[in-house]
Amino acid sequence: MNKADLKAEFSKIFQQEADATFFSPGRINLIGEHTDYNGGHVFPCAITLGTYGAARKRDDQTLRFYSANFADQGIVEVPLADLHFDKADGWTNYLKGMIHFLKEAGYPIDKGMDIYLNGNIPNGSGLSSSASIEMLMGVIAQELFDLDIERLEIVKIGMKTENDFIGVNSGIMDQFAVGMGAANRAILLDTNTLDYELVPLDLKDNVIVIMNTNKRRELADSKYNERRGECEQALAELQTKLDIQSLGQLDAQTFDEYSYLIADENRLKRARHAVWENQRTLQAQEALQAGDLDKFGRLVNASHVSLEHDYEVTGVELDTLAHTAWKQAGVLGARMTGAGFGGCGIAIVAKDKVAAFTEEVGKAYTAKIGYAPAFYIAEIADGTKVL
Ligand code: ADP
Ligand code: MG
Repeated sequence: MNKADLKAEFSKIFQQEADATFFSPGRINLIGEHTDYNGGHVFPCAITLGTYGAARKRDDQTLRFYSANFADQGIVEVPLADLHFDKADGWTNYLKGMIHFLKEAGYPIDKGMDIYLNGNIPNGSGLSSSASIEMLMGVIAQELFDLDIERLEIVKIGMKTENDFIGVNSGIMDQFAVGMGAANRAILLDTNTLDYELVPLDLKDNVIVIMNTNKRRELADSKYNERRGECEQALAELQTKLDIQSLGQLDAQTFDEYSYLIADENRLKRARHAVWENQRTLQAQEALQAGDLDKFGRLVNASHVSLEHDYEVTGVELDTLAHTAWKQAGVLGARMTGAGFGGCGIAIVAKDKVAAFTEEVGKAYTAKIGYAPAFYIAEIADGTKVL
């Protein structure tokens, strides 16, 4: 959507002129999955699929939210003084949470707002539409109230909203990628220190194809929390002999030597994934910077194998996409992306093979799963911004 269309849509809904317009991307993660809450590295990028927004400051104490993606709900009104979580309030909770925590941190949001959203990220498919609207809300508040706030602070408030308001125990990757992304760059982020580097993403004659299983991530949140718990317990077992604060601090060799301390096979597999995936992420970044795309692709494949067999978060839909993708001509690598249990995968595919790729993978997936996947070409975008 362009600025003029956004302004026109806003006026149609709210009968007023918008003060400003915004875009907030979704994200894919190239490699480094389930490492962000284990103190490891992640390697995501912001994408051009995202959420557009338009907003206006009001003179009173009323917030009015409207999403074109939930148009049947019309305008949802919330008093600025009463920003509590209510499951029945659905999507507006993400925006309420952001405003609540911004106010709690002392940022002076003392007036209501009219806010219009229009997104093109498939919701609940692992491309982080939730982080997209959280960061959008944060930047809207910053712009309308002229808040003196660092971008990293909005990222942290986004994570807090997801964790403490919505109740999803996720790490910082999603909000960081959405908030800090840059066009044609991937973000190598050390989740232990929050040091990061914007790495040029030169895939030569290849593109990133997003493969959507079209399966909603059922049970994802409970399984996610279970994996977190297993990793925390494995860490505690390793800490009886090792002076470490997170699994991300271990190299593969040290982990191997001390793995005898982990008393349960599942916990061993989960921790092994966290440690090795972190190492793979660093190697993948090096391979990319050295222009060794074949190696980069193999590491992407290895990530999926580990998520399938050690971390066990893929499922038949994501496995079918990845396994079928691996067999196609012109594919450098393919894996699930995001939390797993459904949602999306990515494949790095030669430009001139994309049509054949989507046809073949689509056919094989539909035959096995019973419904069709969807494919989109990922273009790498800037983080959340005022348009
Ligand atoms: P994901 O972040 O992987 O897309 P989540 O379940 O974490 O999946 O977040 C999806 C939820 O975010 C939606 O169900 C909805 O509540 C909210 N959301 C995302 N995009 C929009 C939008 N454009 N308008 C309103 N709500 C949205
Ligand atoms: Mg989400």
